[in-house]
Amino acid sequence: MHWITPEIEREMIAIRHDLHRHPELSWQEYRTAETVCQTLGQYGVSYTSGIAGVGVVADIAGQQDGPVIVLRADMDALPIEEDTGLSFASENPGVMHACGHDGHTSILLGVAMALAGAKEPPPLPVRLLFQPAEEVATGARAMIREGTLKGVGMIFGAHLDCNHAVGKVVVNEGVVSASRDVFKIELTGRGGHAARPQEAIDAIRVGAELTQELQALTSGAITPSNPAVVSIGRFQAGAAANVIAETVVLEGAVYARDEDIRADLKQKIRQISMAVAQRYHAKVDVELDEGIPAIINRPDIVQLARKTARAALGENSVADFVRTNMGAEDFSCFLEHAAGCYVRIGAWNMAEGIAPAHSSQFYFDEGALAVGAEYLTSLAMAAGKWVRERGF
Ligand SMILES: [Zn+2]
Ligand SMILES: [Zn+2]
Repeated sequence: MHWITPEIEREMIAIRHDLHRHPELSWQEYRTAETVCQTLGQYGVSYTSGIAGVGVVADIAGQQDGPVIVLRADMDALPIEEDTGLSFASENPGVMHACGHDGHTSILLGVAMALAGAKEPPPLPVRLLFQPAEEVATGARAMIREGTLKGVGMIFGAHLDCNHAVGKVVVNEGVVSASRDVFKIELTGRGGHAARPQEAIDAIRVGAELTQELQALTSGAITPSNPAVVSIGRFQAGAAANVIAETVVLEGAVYARDEDIRADLKQKIRQISMAVAQRYHAKVDVELDEGIPAIINRPDIVQLARKTARAALGENSVADFVRTNMGAEDFSCFLEHAAGCYVRIGAWNMAEGIAPAHSSQFYFDEGALAVGAEYLTSLAMAAGKWVRERGF
């Protein structure tokens, strides 16, 4: 390791344990932001806090002014009761770092420590974004609205990935995460006595039919080579066994890797909802949120990211995605405004086994912290040189 000394690694692990013990939900990352600020202050890195509420932005001067190389980490945890038995398990009931964002925050602080201790400043200025609320997909847009991409040349983001071993960097060109749009459909029928359904319009029956039609949507409309998913996550209706429900509320999400398929599915959700409602003379109201696009990695920047991984971590450090990722990540919002690339940092340890992200037993190998910080520091340096020589 060139940038990450054993002292920095120890410090990163200690910070990660502290953050893991005190997880905070989206938009409530106050203590986490405080820890970030304290650490940055300790290493003499200048920062601004309170960005979009709880975000933090750190700036490190470069050898020259010019386009800024931006690195981004997310800070939020999930509403999950931890069941890992770790000595540093969550002390916040019902909240857990089950996606590794405690690791991401520690990695970016490791980068700050490495850059603060460097003999020479980086080729171009480096900005570190500590973003709130990735899990609810609103943090990135809020940070952008606050002007955190001002002067950006290139931006990079990374996620820990337990499908890959520690020491690997996973980077692919093209689509590496799906788009996501959340919908809410409210159906209104007519309530009535359960014994006399002829007097009522049973919202549960309409909702059940709509659920089936929406779930069948992807099997008919999508080619296998270009997958998409429609999931219903919430179905709420009814008050009593002998009362026909007047309303039902369905909530779900659409994931796609292709913009045309995404637009088509959103339109079909509206059409099918109206058709099913009409069939039963029910009323329908469909809400579709603004959504987040897919992450699309630019090929030339992927080349840079791969080359940097080989130089920093060894010839065999680069891997490809093992399977098509249908998850979404709001880093894509940054890529709507800036050139960049999103990578994954291997975090799997064969001896420890694997528990999936967003599960109550999620666990990653902490060897990934030093690897991630070494890689991102190297990438900030390499991207600085690249942008200085060729633009972006
Ligand atoms: Zn997550
Ligand atoms: Zn995540």
